[in-house]
Amino acid sequence: MIPTTPDEALAELRAGNQRFVTGVPQHPNQDAGRRAAVADGQHPFAVIVGCSDSRLAAEIIFDQGLGDLFVVRTAGHTAGPEVLGSVEYAVTVLGTPLVVVLGHDSCGAVQAAREAVRTGSAPAGHLGAVVDAVSPSLLRAAREGVEDLDGIVDVHIAQIVETLLARSTVLAERVAGGACTVVGMSYRLSGGEVRTVAQSPDPLPAPAAPVDPALAG
Ligand SMILES: [Zn+2]
Repeated sequence: MIPTTPDEALAELRAGNQRFVTGVPQHPNQDAGRRAAVADGQHPFAVIVGCSDSRLAAEIIFDQGLGDLFVVRTAGHTAGPEVLGSVEYAVTVLGTPLVVVLGHDSCGAVQAAREAVRTGSAPAGHLGAVVDAVSPSLLRAAREGVEDLDGIVDVHIAQIVETLLARSTVLAERVAGGACTVVGMSYRLSGGEVRTVAQSPDPLPAPAAPVDPALAG
């Protein structure tokens, strides 16, 4: 069944990641039948705004197949105009109910940006654009007293979730209307699991435990 709501989409991604982590992937939707079925149209249930790192292949780590994920990847999972346009295409034209910002530990792009800021030297060529896109997260991490690389990655993931919503009016409207959720996740290279570090709208808090009448007095 194709997930059609943000909650269903998130549950399917988490289930797929769990299959991958535990070594029992199903490799769904990867055969000739699926290829033929989606040739005339796509209805991906999640957009992945992920880092380009070669170890972060979305369909593999979430155990999905053809037509399931709409994937936009840049080094350091940035949120420039082409990325925003791609996200907006998926959520408006394709009706995708979930956007995931996907970072990971030991991110080379975040590391390179940190080095560039620390040494005050601009990297050569277009690599400077990656550094510029990550720099606001470095400043935020510094303000928040976060110094370790993986902590900075978490800040950057949360920053990109907020940036997508701040820069894309149409995405913010979809989220406000309940049609779409934006989640920031961090992937661990060695274990393969994803961890949620940011979510908009905030997930509902766990319901309070019922009061025991015998104790209520
Ligand atoms: Zn990376």
